[in-house]
Amino acid sequence: MVALAEIKRHKTHPVKVRGVIVGGDAPVVVQSMTNTDTADVQASFAQIRELFLAGSEIVRLTVNNDEAAKAVPKIRTLLDKEGLDVPLAGCFHYNGHKLLADYPEMAQALDKYRINPGNVGFGKKRDGQFEMMIEAALKYNKSVRIGVNWGSLDQTLSTKLMDENAALDKPQPADSVMREALVQSALLSAEKAENIGLGKDQIILSAKVSRVQDLIAVYRALAQRSDYALHLGLTEAGMGSKGIVATAIGEAVLLQLGIGDTIRASLTPEPGGARTLEVKVCQQILQTMGLRSFAPQVSACPGCGRTTSTVFQELAGNIQSYLDTQMPLWQAQYPGVEALNVAVMGCIVNGPGESKHADIGISLPGTGESPVAPVFIDGKKAHTLRGTAIAEEFQAILEDYIKTRYGAEGQNMCVA
Ligand code: SF4
Repeated sequence: MVALAEIKRHKTHPVKVRGVIVGGDAPVVVQSMTNTDTADVQASFAQIRELFLAGSEIVRLTVNNDEAAKAVPKIRTLLDKEGLDVPLAGCFHYNGHKLLADYPEMAQALDKYRINPGNVGFGKKRDGQFEMMIEAALKYNKSVRIGVNWGSLDQTLSTKLMDENAALDKPQPADSVMREALVQSALLSAEKAENIGLGKDQIILSAKVSRVQDLIAVYRALAQRSDYALHLGLTEAGMGSKGIVATAIGEAVLLQLGIGDTIRASLTPEPGGARTLEVKVCQQILQTMGLRSFAPQVSACPGCGRTTSTVFQELAGNIQSYLDTQMPLWQAQYPGVEALNVAVMGCIVNGPGESKHADIGISLPGTGESPVAPVFIDGKKAHTLRGTAIAEEFQAILEDYIKTRYGAEGQNMCVA
């Protein structure tokens, strides 16, 4: 079993969002956001359900107009009917103060309000509208995320900082001033929310940018200058491998520094692609870093000229899909199975060594090797498979291992 990483977490105030704790000593929480029209109750309900079942521990949805506001309590009712206790976060821009005042059932049905200080209102109206949203959070006892964003930064604040910078003998680069504006916008808004009456245990901060180095700099500053729970995310991360790699790098660097209490991967889905990819990516980031375990992992070598047949790729793929399909059933039946590590290796060079490090591993014969596949269990050679049914036999051994180790009998054995 892979040991969980020992990372000293930046100390933050825990915030309760329905039954989920964000911050403090709680494990880093996985979040996601819908991309359905919130007003479409059935479609939004179906996607929230899908995201929740994929492992999203909080789901955010936009509340952008009257129809969306009316839909929120209906969506909550459908979720409750199915026993899906997923916390819902409402994302507000421009008219949140009005919608929260006009639709009390929506304000009550949500568990968290996302407030963007750059979009809460302009000029003289700004402070009053921000106050109305915080008052709603107080009235309904909800938490808020004060989420500033590079693309919608508070213009008054950024202009003020730019002017001050320009007057300096040695002005800072414009990027540094913008980073500072993001940090200040988040911190000043949080301070305002506290002055209105919200507790630190109701406030989460985020400051999203689209470049990794900016993300790291901004969150390091937030962590140095405050103890609010922090929501990490690279905004507009992009599509495909670019979005995944950028998100993983930005979030992983910060998590390694102990910064971040909840994460999201803001990926642009491929046309027809599953929205749940963003959940899987977050889980994979946390599991790869040894911060949490969600599903058994298959370590497989990349293959090379020593693996000229496709047997090895097929076996690695089949074992991973088998584990993924079984997980919903296994979660209740085999507690702890999510930390299982399986190795599927292509030849004798690294096969036996890597397999010994896994809980269970198989080293397949490479080209020209004797057609036998040793199986290692808990570091020791336990079987030698040969012939045409190696894949089936390995799957049966794996199933048996899981039953023995994580089933009722295995648990009792551990206790004894
Ligand atoms: S374990 Fe063998 S097959 Fe796999 S990459 Fe290494 S040398 Fe190639």
